[in-house]
Amino acid sequence: MGQYSPKVPAYKSLPLFKLKNAKRAGRLVRRLRSRAYRLIRAEAVFLARKLTKKALRYRAMVVIDDVDWESLKELLMRRYGKKISKLLLSGLKRFVKLLVTQLQWYGVPYEFKRLYSRKCPNCKHKLTQQKGRVMICTNCGFKAPRDMVPMYWVLTPSPP
Ligand SMILES: [Zn+2]
Repeated sequence: MGQYSPKVPAYKSLPLFKLKNAKRAGRLVRRLRSRAYRLIRAEAVFLARKLTKKALRYRAMVVIDDVDWESLKELLMRRYGKKISKLLLSGLKRFVKLLVTQLQWYGVPYEFKRLYSRKCPNCKHKLTQQKGRVMICTNCGFKAPRDMVPMYWVLTPSPP
């Protein structure tokens, strides 16, 4: 408290007030953004390693969602705006790339497969969402929590 000189009001020492011009503010934003990119990249490395280790431990095969990047981009843009979705997409793409590299390196079998959450894994009919995020197929009676539907897709045999 005692560090303010009596001539300078305390509020002028606030960080925002110290940003004298837009140029400086812009620099700060860019620095924060590159920090966010770094953090997301580090997280991608961490997750790819973790998943590969897990696959090795369980002698498991890894099924990677064969994401439709264009529709994912649209969805993220609608939900988070341009800047955030760009950040998330780059992180996700990086993660998939790192994961594949690691899996190949350790010889873990893997497969890309489109994992839907709104399409029936039994009959490919469109699923209807009910209360409590439960998805139901009006064609064959399949029923599962929405977050579990992609898991059922993992278990469906791949087309030849
Ligand atoms: Zn069905």
